Amino acid sequence: MKILVINTGSSSLKYQLFFMDTSEVLAAGLIEKIGESSSVITHRKHPYRTDGSKVSKEQAITGHKAAISIMIDLLTDKNTGVIETKKDITAIGHRVVHGGEAFHEPVVIDQDVIRAIQEHAPLAPLHNPANLIGIEACQESFPGIPQVAVFDTAFHQTIPPRAFHYAIEHELYEKYKVRRYGFHGTSHKYVAFQTAKFLNTTLDTLNLITIHLGNGSSMAAIQNGKCIDTSMGMTPLEGIVMGTRSGDIDPGILFFLANELKMNIAELDTLLNKKSGLKGLCGTNDMRDVLEKRKAKDPKASLAFDLYAYRIKKYIGAYFAALGKLDAIVFTGGIGENSSDIRKGACENLEALGISISDGLNQINNGQSRSIHSDDGKVKILVIPTNEELQIAKGTMEVIG
Ligand code: AMP
Repeated sequence: MKILVINTGSSSLKYQLFFMDTSEVLAAGLIEKIGESSSVITHRKHPYRTDGSKVSKEQAITGHKAAISIMIDLLTDKNTGVIETKKDITAIGHRVVHGGEAFHEPVVIDQDVIRAIQEHAPLAPLHNPANLIGIEACQESFPGIPQVAVFDTAFHQTIPPRAFHYAIEHELYEKYKVRRYGFHGTSHKYVAFQTAKFLNTTLDTLNLITIHLGNGSSMAAIQNGKCIDTSMGMTPLEGIVMGTRSGDIDPGILFFLANELKMNIAELDTLLNKKSGLKGLCGTNDMRDVLEKRKAKDPKASLAFDLYAYRIKKYIGAYFAALGKLDAIVFTGGIGENSSDIRKGACENLEALGISISDGLNQINNGQSRSIHSDDGKVKILVIPTNEELQIAKGTMEVIG
């Protein structure tokens, strides 16, 4: 069975073709700057094999339908391709950012699903319309091949009302669905399942705190395999500190900035989503640069590092309390998988809670799932590499049976 995973942005198309018997990526590609005078195409055949190959080229691509046609050519070409015809693809799984309260699981896309994704666009105005463009272009280009929507929000739909409501007028929830949804659901779900596999048990026996630290970052509290709380909110702005997003902030600051600095809604949006987080604190949103600057004793980078780790630690404490019993803390994402310093900072001085990191194990960076807790730690601390695309492919396969 071959599953094609598609992630569409407003001017980009990312794809991976999986052979599901072995979970191998047969081909992967990224088409950027769609609609501009010079679009950029990168395609890899067998990206994880030593005999793999890569093609990069630039050409004008007018829209997503044209981008999909180029992707099909690359996938079926005798040099760059891995399949004979597009009919060799069993199904297509689409990443869809916001499914609101309507979707708890991946679903086969029909007209009702398309309408629901459209209806949820106000909750994800940058993402859902772009995701729909990809879905509609694929429906035209792959007639008869099942298409499945896999939602970033779905895994968090099990969180109870006390965790998803905000303490504001109830009518705002009833009429406008203002509530916590959470994001990165495919990543939290994937690493939770991989954790159970790594620990040789089943997920329904485990209480976990999963910590996804990438450009965007979020945490989830998982009880007996079900998500019971998550740090991102109605939008991906809430929660821990991120590359360019502030995470938690006193909403009163917005009134202050509007009153005193006369900032308007668009300026406040840009401030909190694009100019805050690590970037706002020390001028770079790339954790590798923050770590370099901190090493060179840059005080702003040191503050950014401390604050970043401290906020994660506060959420660990909060989620430990929410869960009652904790089996494992799981780090994932570009930062979570690679930065021993951040992992150490986030778990520092938590020995009283049974959380104790091993300095030696924490330093090992081998790209594999691994344990990094010390022998006397009651709570396991793990690093589990995430793979959102594979989770989308698996979700797609489950739905089409
Ligand atoms: P992601 O969104 O999951 O690709 O993660 C991107 C983030 O991971 C960026 O902030 C990178 O700086 C960070 N990152 C990638 N590699 C490393 C590394 N070796 N050490 C620290 N941070 C890293």
